[in-house]
Amino acid sequence: MTQRKFYYFDNNATTRIAPEVVDAMIPFLKDLWGNPSSAYFFGSQVGKHVEDARKKVAALINADPKEIVFTSCGTESNNSAIHSALATNPGKRHVITTAVEHSANINFGEYLRKMGFEVTFLPVEPDGSLDVHLLEKSIRPDTAIVSVMYANNETGVIFPIEEIAAICRSKGVLFHTDAVQTPGKLKLDVKNLGCDFLSLSAHKLHAPKGIGCLYVKRRTKYQPYVIGGHQERGKRGGTENVANIVAFGRAAELVMEKLNEENTRVRALRDRLENTILATIPNTIRNGAKESRLPNTTNIAFEFVEAEAILLLLDGLGICASSGSACTTGSLDPSHVLTAMGLSPMRARGCVRFSLGIYNTDEDIDHLLKHLPPIIKRLRDISPLNPSHPDNDKYDIEAAREKHEQDLAEAMSDKDEKAA
Ligand code: PLP
Repeated sequence: MTQRKFYYFDNNATTRIAPEVVDAMIPFLKDLWGNPSSAYFFGSQVGKHVEDARKKVAALINADPKEIVFTSCGTESNNSAIHSALATNPGKRHVITTAVEHSANINFGEYLRKMGFEVTFLPVEPDGSLDVHLLEKSIRPDTAIVSVMYANNETGVIFPIEEIAAICRSKGVLFHTDAVQTPGKLKLDVKNLGCDFLSLSAHKLHAPKGIGCLYVKRRTKYQPYVIGGHQERGKRGGTENVANIVAFGRAAELVMEKLNEENTRVRALRDRLENTILATIPNTIRNGAKESRLPNTTNIAFEFVEAEAILLLLDGLGICASSGSACTTGSLDPSHVLTAMGLSPMRARGCVRFSLGIYNTDEDIDHLLKHLPPIIKRLRDISPLNPSHPDNDKYDIEAAREKHEQDLAEAMSDKDEKAA
């Protein structure tokens, strides 16, 4: 299959599987396909690789391997932590989370409300930060768990997890953090963080979709969410997804090696992109705090235009970005994260998230910066939302798209010639 050249700025939605990760998982798809729970060698040898991967994932967050429970995804990990806290504390029926969590928490919270539990969704400040005093005041004697994400997937804003964990500890309340967006971007150490539960999802760190984990601090009471066999030391039923677990382990190793690169090279690319957009395109605003933010993420409001129109035109030029979480794409509602930060629904509908990764290059940024300003101008010229309607620009989007297609065709035929 020939792959189209594209410029990928949606690493918070998912990431390219690293070639090293593919190599690591292939033997478990082709030859080593036994069941790790089997007593005979063909199966049990596979179990050793699962344990090896567990060690690598544990090392990523400085946990003990016994504290890692493999799950199917970040969503399951989040649901499992909250479910366990409620199940092991039957007298406590209150959960605290924030209004800007991923839908894995927001919709689970709504579900819990329907089931008769009480859920507090804490508001955030206009820069996306959290008032920890308000969080502290919201903890009640019947609060079973506080669940606050480490870094926001739409804005990249980082919450003060150590401080929140300390508050929860002092009040005797369990604390879970959804750290799905952090590997490779922040140094993770559960011992310093002081959380009871922490969620990860492998497809955000260059491994396949369909595998995640939940860190469960030693001696924390735990009630499984997926009830079945004795797998995962009785903490999660279901035959292990061996190839994906091995992939997760390899990705965890690689991402630790790349931490520095995300914080230097990728951060510099993100800053160049953000600073140039803000300096050269009028009426653009960054959403979220400048400093306490993931190094790869920028979320920009483009006033007087619809993000969906921008994304469509960018897509025609091979540029992938998004207007919010991939899990809410298709919804006509403005982002719940941006509206919780106080953006009007109209402004929130004009926001685009660019999330970079280790495979982005300077050339990618050049391509985006070449096409984005004229696209915004062109859309504003025809936008009924735009109060000033400046004169139409000569930028011809159709011609730019055709040129892009021609360049692609040429690049592909060059490649094929070289390969022949
Ligand atoms: N939490 C956050 C912050 C996320 O960004 C995501 C995915 O986008 C999830 C949870 C859900 O992870 P998964 O897709 O593995 O269910």
